[in-house]
Amino acid sequence: MTLTKEKVFVTKSFMPPLNEYMQYVEKVFNNAQLTNGGPLVKELEAKLIDYLGIDNIQYVTNGTIALQLALRALDIEEGEVITTPFTYVATTSAILWEKLKPVYVDIEPDNFTIDPNKIEEKITPKTCAIMPVHVFGYACDVDKIQKIADKYNLKVIYDAAHSFGARYKGKSLASYGDISTLSFHATKLFHTVEGGACIIKDEIVKKELDLLKRFGHNGDEHFCLGINGKQSEIHAAMGLSILPYMNEILEKRRRICKLYDELLKDVVQLPDKQKDHEHNYAYYPVVFKSEEELIRVFEVLKQDEIYPRRYFYPSLNKLPYILEYTPCPISEDISKRIACLPLYPALDLETVEKIGKTIRNCILG
Ligand SMILES: *Cc1c(COP(=O)(O)O)cnc(C)c1O
Repeated sequence: MTLTKEKVFVTKSFMPPLNEYMQYVEKVFNNAQLTNGGPLVKELEAKLIDYLGIDNIQYVTNGTIALQLALRALDIEEGEVITTPFTYVATTSAILWEKLKPVYVDIEPDNFTIDPNKIEEKITPKTCAIMPVHVFGYACDVDKIQKIADKYNLKVIYDAAHSFGARYKGKSLASYGDISTLSFHATKLFHTVEGGACIIKDEIVKKELDLLKRFGHNGDEHFCLGINGKQSEIHAAMGLSILPYMNEILEKRRRICKLYDELLKDVVQLPDKQKDHEHNYAYYPVVFKSEEELIRVFEVLKQDEIYPRRYFYPSLNKLPYILEYTPCPISEDISKRIACLPLYPALDLETVEKIGKTIRNCILG
């Protein structure tokens, strides 16, 4: 018999005990209400408010529609949205899908978030919003960004898809800006298979977004053009059965990150630790000296069936469907040299040690 080695990918979805998930599914079957703001969706929303320490949340179908609903609820219908080129493509595609123009501002070299000192020079009379990303769960400079937004009367929408459970200056990282959005996709730290959420500051905007996500009507009374952003009871069931494991999940991730730190801190560049920031260990990004070094490491790891991912590559200002090229030298440079290493609660520390040592040996030769 030949043993096939289990492949190690950058992440692996957390699966709750099947019987605990089934208990929630049984409730759904008994209620016979599958969607449209059912009792499990309401229960998950209440538990998320409690767990994250936020004061409101709207659970929606995914993190991309959360961004699009956020733009719509804030009446951002035309113009330019200042954003970061160093993120998952969904941040940009949400802007483009809403027929708005993404305007890229380069990033900080030490934690890859948007450089607040470069935002003002990109503001024009057409600018209507800023959409920064707390990339890998690191906090954007929320104070500087808010000051600029106030000065120019701009809305701020944080794509907080990576920020579940991260805290900054004593508050949930998902509580800043006019709206913060989360993603609960299967590959994210906390997931509901597919899913997302909006956390909203203003009461009227909250009501507006709630209406937009269910076709813009209440019964027979139609108020505005809406879309379907409602999430189902079956998805909520997954979230409810995973939420009690979050502390355990975070502790396992913390231990993996600590071991990577020990093995790698002198051979690759790691993001700077931030002051007043409580990390959520959502990703383990490492920056290599060059793209060649990254490719060499990937080839060696592949021999052991280990597959890190090039997050995020390419820098989004270089997307083929972005017709007007804006140089973002730091993002373009980092994008070529950065990768996320495998990180998920089921990953055993022996494998982490093997990955760390393989990378060390590959770099140090
Ligand atoms: C995952 C992700 C999204 C999109 O979320 P979905 O739930 O997959 O639609 C948006 N922004 C960032 C930064 C992401 O990583």
